[in-house]
Amino acid sequence: AGPATRPPWDVPFWLRSAGLRPSRALGQHFLADANTARRIVRLAALTPGERVLEIGPGLGALTRALVEAGAQVRALEADRHLLPVLAQTVAPLGVEVVLGDACQVDWTTLAPPPGPWAVVANLPYNVAVPIVMGLLETAPQVTRLVVMVQREVADRLVAGPGSKAYGAVSVLVAYRARARRLGAVPATVFVPRPKVASALVALERREQPALDLPGPLEARLVTLVRAGFGHRRKTLRQALAGLVPEDGFLAAGVDPRARAETLDLEAWGRLARWSPVPAG
Ligand code: SAM
Repeated sequence: AGPATRPPWDVPFWLRSAGLRPSRALGQHFLADANTARRIVRLAALTPGERVLEIGPGLGALTRALVEAGAQVRALEADRHLLPVLAQTVAPLGVEVVLGDACQVDWTTLAPPPGPWAVVANLPYNVAVPIVMGLLETAPQVTRLVVMVQREVADRLVAGPGSKAYGAVSVLVAYRARARRLGAVPATVFVPRPKVASALVALERREQPALDLPGPLEARLVTLVRAGFGHRRKTLRQALAGLVPEDGFLAAGVDPRARAETLDLEAWGRLARWSPVPAG
């Protein structure tokens, strides 16, 4: 069969024809604007033939723009009710649609190594951060991500020390990737319209993590960063009590009276090296 005559960005048509109501729990806000879909794909700067994994294709608006740009697309969708629509809007274009949950899926099966794979997605807002962190931590074959997220989440992904949005996610993303904000996307291009503004972020995986930390110290870094930002109002001495000894701060050259948001990645790395790793 050839592609459906109605394009996937004709959201009211597809919702009506499939008898669907967008699910709030699944963060369903469908792109209803071809230009935005194409703009996202243009900003993603794909090379023809590049393998792309899309998370949450929805009705297929972004998927179709990805195919138009020459990408080889595989798409993971959690909502089985959307499969009959995707079978008409994008499957005829050669897209392989897989039913599954991005929070539980085995990335190795879905995007087999060695890659490289790019992930391009308009992510469901409530699980965007765990999906991005999961990919960075467990799917090295995914070498870059171009994701649309809530504007506040975009701010956190790209933030540096001293800014309001800088937090544990910013540090742990910077450890593995270079993050860049690509642009804003207005709420008006989605059906239903979200209450929050969106922004596009590109994450380019570093060939090596930004710090040279052996395995146990990497886990240590994660523990310290989470604990440090868990109590933003506290000094590091208070927030990291029991994790970093007093002489650890001295050896790392970090003022224990400072707060987590002032520390750059290198300083977190020094703290990880100068705090004892628990046995076992
Ligand atoms: N890409 C489409 C677009 O731009 O029009 C839809 C984007 S919508 C914001 C998010 C999509 O992710 C929905 O299709 C939703 O069903 C799907 N989704 C939600 N949670 C998911 C999960 N855990 N794993 C995979 N897909 C999920």
